[in-house]
This record gives sequence, structure tokens and C-alpha cells, in this order.
Amino acid sequence: MNKIIELAEENILHTYNRFQIVLDHGKGVKLYDSEGKEYLDFFSGIGVYALGHGDEELNDAIKAQIDKIVHTSNLFYNEPAARAAARLNKLAGMDKAFFTNSGAEAIEGALKAAVKYAYLKDGAHDHEIIALDHSFHGRTCGALSVTGKAAYREAFAPLCAEVKFAKMNDLASVTELVNNKTCAIIMETLQGEGGIYPADKDFIEGVYKLCQDKDILLILDEIQCGLYRTGYPYAWQRYDVHPDIMTTAKALGNGIPIGAFLLNEKVAKASLVAGDHGTTYGGNPLACAAADKALELLESRKVLDNVRNLTPYLEEKLDALVSKYDCIKGRRGQGFMQGLILNVAPADIVNKGIEKGILMLTAGTDVLRLLPPLIITKEDIDRMYEILDEVFSA
Ligand SMILES: *Cc1c(COP(=O)(O)O)cnc(C)c1O
Repeated sequence: MNKIIELAEENILHTYNRFQIVLDHGKGVKLYDSEGKEYLDFFSGIGVYALGHGDEELNDAIKAQIDKIVHTSNLFYNEPAARAAARLNKLAGMDKAFFTNSGAEAIEGALKAAVKYAYLKDGAHDHEIIALDHSFHGRTCGALSVTGKAAYREAFAPLCAEVKFAKMNDLASVTELVNNKTCAIIMETLQGEGGIYPADKDFIEGVYKLCQDKDILLILDEIQCGLYRTGYPYAWQRYDVHPDIMTTAKALGNGIPIGAFLLNEKVAKASLVAGDHGTTYGGNPLACAAADKALELLESRKVLDNVRNLTPYLEEKLDALVSKYDCIKGRRGQGFMQGLILNVAPADIVNKGIEKGILMLTAGTDVLRLLPPLIITKEDIDRMYEILDEVFSA
């Protein structure tokens, strides 16, 4: 492994402090490094592997598509894109989809659609967007401009639109920032990267009502919390709200890079038109065949039932750790998107976990983040508990 790590560090730009193992292959909820050590996967490639690793039915669909056609460009139609878009719109209750290659690109498109909608309404060039503290929307310039972590933005200013930041679960802090230039409010339904902060019902429903009253567009970023992870197809479906624009990515291709932004009819018919937005690879038949099959399997394998059935057990086990160890202050989360709030460095716990054979993540400054594949069983949760018990006692 050391040779591979050396070769990588010599040649790949060092923008990550990587964990010192080389992942090689996986099966189900297990991952293996290149020396054969087994890990229980409770990070899913950052919420990507909803169906777990090495799914044969999914892999067969991807292989079959490779043998047919991989890329067409968007100058032509392709069947997998049409099918995947129909499936996605139905699941999300949205009207039109645009496929991208990543989450950040989905955010870029969502912001462009919102600004264009406002521009068509009043012809102004000084629209403002409201985003939230602790938010994470991606690393491209547009996505970064709405990301609520100053350290990520600072060196790269000036960024894109005029963005103001309010506080999650503080409706007054949002209302305060609204003026007649406000064109959109963007938020994650459940903040991931920033520390696992779920939206309160009153807050998100209040934001929705505010948007409706003032014809401000509500953009919900479901890139991490979407696709069944919180026990709903999309996390916002837990609440009495409906986004005008929504983004999805991470689990969408179960490992094949693909994202999308979805528009409701109101925005779709009064925003981006032919010539306004494009991508060479976005919506390519390979990625769309993966997404189409992944969406089909997520439904036919009833992962929603699995998440709902096992969430109480997962929470019970995590709460048992909270009671047992003083260094764990509490737990936040919904479904299979959970965080343990620590008063020790989360990265140390993740490293200890790697030693003991479990892969996890950090979030914010003090959170240990768990994003297991949605196919985990009760036994996997028991195993997680055993390993974490060892990690925390060590
Ligand atoms: C990961 C993430 C993004 C960015 O997605 P990329 O595919 O890394 O560009 C945006 N928003 C949220 C909520 C995310 O978790």
C-alpha cells in the first residue's frame, strides 16, 4: 500500500489529507484494502453506495450499456437518459430534469435557473440569494458562493451571485434578509457536511410559506440526504413543503458519477431555454443507465422499508453509545444519516475505526458522521456497535 500512496502523493495534487489505506474492492457492506483487510462500510463513499458494493444486477446493466453506447452528447436523444429522467421526476414529484456529472454542477444549474427566472420576471441584474450557515453545496465557484463555511470561500472571493447567510432553524434570521431583490433561498433539507443538522418542521415549512408569499424560489439540496437515506424518497417529503428546484446526486448512480437538478413546471416554463445551459457529458447513456437501474433497484429491493424498519434499532444502538461514553455528547440525524456529537476530535475516532475495521466520516468540527449503505441488516448494526464500543473504550 505504501508504494501506491507514495506514487499518488508524488503525482496527485494534495487537496486532501487522505486516510492511509488504499481501497481495492467491495462486496455488499464490506470493503477491502489492497492488502486484503476487511472494513465494515458505514460511509458509503460519502453517501454514494446506497445499494452497497458489487451489486451484480446493477453491474450487468452498466456492462451491457458499455457494449452498446457510452456517450452521445446532448445533440442527440438517448434512451437511458429519457428513462432515468422519467423515473426521477416521478420519485421526486418534479417536472423536468437536467443531468449533470456531479453534485456541484447540479447546484450550478439550479442557481442559473433561479436567477434566469427572476431575470425574466423583472429584468434586473442584482438578484440576491439566501443560503444557510453550516451549509455545503460543492466546490465550484457558484456552489461555493452559497456554501456556509467561510474558510472554504475566503481565498476565492469574489464568487458569483450576491449571497446572504441566515441560520438553520431560525426563521427570523431568514425573513430579516428578504428584500425585493431576493430570488431564491437554498438549503439542504438535512445539512450533511456542516454537522448533520436536520431542518425543524416549523422552520422549513416557514421558509416554504415565505417563498410562496413573495414568489421567491425554494431550492432544496438533496444531494446527500435524498434518495431514501432519511426514510423518505427525498428528505423534504417528510414535511409539508415542495421545492421549486431540487438537486440530487451522490447515490443516484450508486458510484457512477451523475447528478441532476429538477424543476417544477412553474420554473421549467419560465427559466432556462435552448442555449442557456449545457454539458458535454451530462446525461450520457452510461451514467443514465446506471441511474435508471439504481433507481429501479432502490425501489424493487424496498430500501425505504429497510431504512424505516431499522432506524429505531440504529438509533437505539447509537444512543447506547451516547449513554456509555462521556466523550459522546449526543446524537443528531434522521434515518441512515446520523451524527454523534463528540468532545474529542472526530478524525481521531475515524482513524481508530479504520484500525479496528470500520469506515466512517467526520462532519462539521465535532461530529462523527455515519452514512451506511441502505441495505444494511440488523447484524451489520450489531457489528457496528461492537466495533464502536471497542473504538470508544480505546
Ligand atoms: C456532496 C455534496 C455536494 C457536492 O457534490 P459533488 O458531487 O461533490 O460536487 C453538494 N451538496 C451537498 C449537500 C453535498 O453533500
